Amino acid sequence: MSDKRDISIEIIEFNEKVKFIVKGINPTIANTIRRAILTEVPTMAIDYAVIIENTSVLYDEILLHRLSFIPLKTDLESYKLPEKCECGGSGCSNCQVRLYLEVEAEEGSLLVTSSHLVPEDGRTFPAKENIPIVKLEKGQKVILEAYARLGLGKEKAKWQPVAACAYKYFPIIEVNEQNCSLCEDCIERCPRKTLALVDNKIVLKNPLECSLCKECEKACPEGAIKVKYDDSCFIFKFENLGALPSDVIVEKALEAIVEKALELKRLLSSK
Ligand code: SF4
Ligand code: SF4
Ligand SMILES: [Zn+2]
Repeated sequence: MSDKRDISIEIIEFNEKVKFIVKGINPTIANTIRRAILTEVPTMAIDYAVIIENTSVLYDEILLHRLSFIPLKTDLESYKLPEKCECGGSGCSNCQVRLYLEVEAEEGSLLVTSSHLVPEDGRTFPAKENIPIVKLEKGQKVILEAYARLGLGKEKAKWQPVAACAYKYFPIIEVNEQNCSLCEDCIERCPRKTLALVDNKIVLKNPLECSLCKECEKACPEGAIKVKYDDSCFIFKFENLGALPSDVIVEKALEAIVEKALELKRLLSSK
């Protein structure tokens, strides 16, 4: 089993798109981190709305569904999860916030977007501008009050802070030089174009690009190339939807894992 001191992290990209390599963990821990990022990080999302007027082509339910998937900037210092709020989850200024939408297509057709949402306070607002909600034709109107609250991705996907979160094993390409005829068929077949001939050897130019598809193995007439992987080293990637900074997402996910482990320890020691 990996020792804590053997763990290392290499950041490849850490902006809207995040990519990092973690060495010294096992598949169980890698999957726990992935699941915690998707399901245990609180974010704000619109949960319900009071529709005052809707003459658009969308039913109220579909309109609300579209609103609920607009990522909202989340201030974790100011808001609590409803189940942890003093109000008991009935909704108060500590656990929910209002956003207003009042748009009418007066001149001609008009695309209603996230930019039309007017937040009640400056802390919770659409993380991205111009996300389409509904197209109005002349004379159509939408007036509503939307209520956003903190939630977790395990409840519904609208509270996930990332668009996708995945990891893969770190690839290892082994070439038996005795058998390799340098025909370059493997280079030709690689869909990621990540194999190259360097100093008369087949090398993996960029391990991050390799998808472990084994096409190179299949293409090799000599059986000289083998695709392997390091099962203690993982390449993680996710796309941040904008509710929280990427480092906070990872931090909160790890905190949630630690909290669960401590809770389990408490329960075991109380038996
Ligand atoms: S496993 Fe697939 S992606 Fe990786 S080097 Fe071989 S062909 Fe390319
Ligand atoms: S396909 Fe096989 S023999 Fe040809 S260059 Fe690649 S590893 Fe060598
Ligand atoms: Zn509350």
